[in-house]
Amino acid sequence: MDRRKFLIGAGLGLIAASSPISLSAIGRSAKRSVKSGKMHLSYSPYELKLRHAFNLAKYSRTTTPDVQVQIEYDGIIGYGEAAMPPYLGESVESVMKFLSKVDLSQFNDPFRIEEILEYVDSIEANNRAAKASVDIALHDLLGKIMGQPWYKIWGLSPEKAPNTSFTIGIDKAEIVRQKVIEAEPYKVLKVKMGLDNDKELVEIIRQMTDRPICVDANQGWSDKHKALEMIEWLYDKNCLFVEQPMPKEMIDETAWLREHSNLPIIADEAFQRIGDIKRFHGVYDGINIKLMKSTGLHEAYKMVTLARALDMKIMVGCMTETSCAVTAAAQLSPLVDWADLDGNLLIANDRFDGIKIVNGRVTIPDRPGIGVELIV
Ligand SMILES: [Mg+2]
Repeated sequence: MDRRKFLIGAGLGLIAASSPISLSAIGRSAKRSVKSGKMHLSYSPYELKLRHAFNLAKYSRTTTPDVQVQIEYDGIIGYGEAAMPPYLGESVESVMKFLSKVDLSQFNDPFRIEEILEYVDSIEANNRAAKASVDIALHDLLGKIMGQPWYKIWGLSPEKAPNTSFTIGIDKAEIVRQKVIEAEPYKVLKVKMGLDNDKELVEIIRQMTDRPICVDANQGWSDKHKALEMIEWLYDKNCLFVEQPMPKEMIDETAWLREHSNLPIIADEAFQRIGDIKRFHGVYDGINIKLMKSTGLHEAYKMVTLARALDMKIMVGCMTETSCAVTAAAQLSPLVDWADLDGNLLIANDRFDGIKIVNGRVTIPDRPGIGVELIV
């Protein structure tokens, strides 16, 4: 036996010893596709259809553009995704253009995550969702090769995953009531604010339930004194924190608000990459990590470590996206204070089975990689 054949044999032996993936499945696909030892990236647009119109302080929409991505390596497929809510500035066109420049065939070892993702990041600035799609697919691939989900590879305890909040958007009173009924299985509600009827919305919910509420103002308040008044009112209504109360550019005003607020102030729109954490330490009490902003799991994990060292609160969130990216984010959830992982529940055409919410809590599937299975 030559050395290469021996190494391949030894590798498959290792997979067989530790993996829930069927070895015969690997064997079959390995026979079908000639082993190249190269990663092959492919992608296609996939429009997400929303169950309800999504009304935020600044716009409303019924679909979200999305690109589905896969990396194939020796017959094993890793899945990834880029979801592009319009306010982040990426589009199907920009993501497809970015991905067309990614050449993974230059790497012989998919385990060199640091080197591969550094290269992807260097191709062009921004393009965070596009970069995340490659990161997620790479993590899925590697987890499948190792036969383990990422929460296990990171050494996390899945029972520490928090409750997830369920979003009640800005809407007419009767629709808000209907959404509160729909949100029955969830222990935490999230309310999107930023219009004139904010208090009315919270009052309607409080007539129906006393479950804690996370508030997301989506940059909707531009007067710091009014914002503080609102936060004091929300504090009395059993709210947990306020996400992005003021426009992201209003840094001094947000720092003032944080100093006077009795609820934690969390950065969402203001916060994208790991470098922002240092800049916002002292301005916000915590950060909302989303894979479409962080460029994926690799940087998100580093963000958690840095934010913890700075004694900041951490929330893991998502965009409206399929179970692919939401389940990938769930792998990190045992490390965070709050989870807002309901993006997959808001769409009508999910392609994957993955994360489950059991008794309101994030439940990570026991599948290798990011934990998803393609169903469509
Ligand atoms: Mg938010």
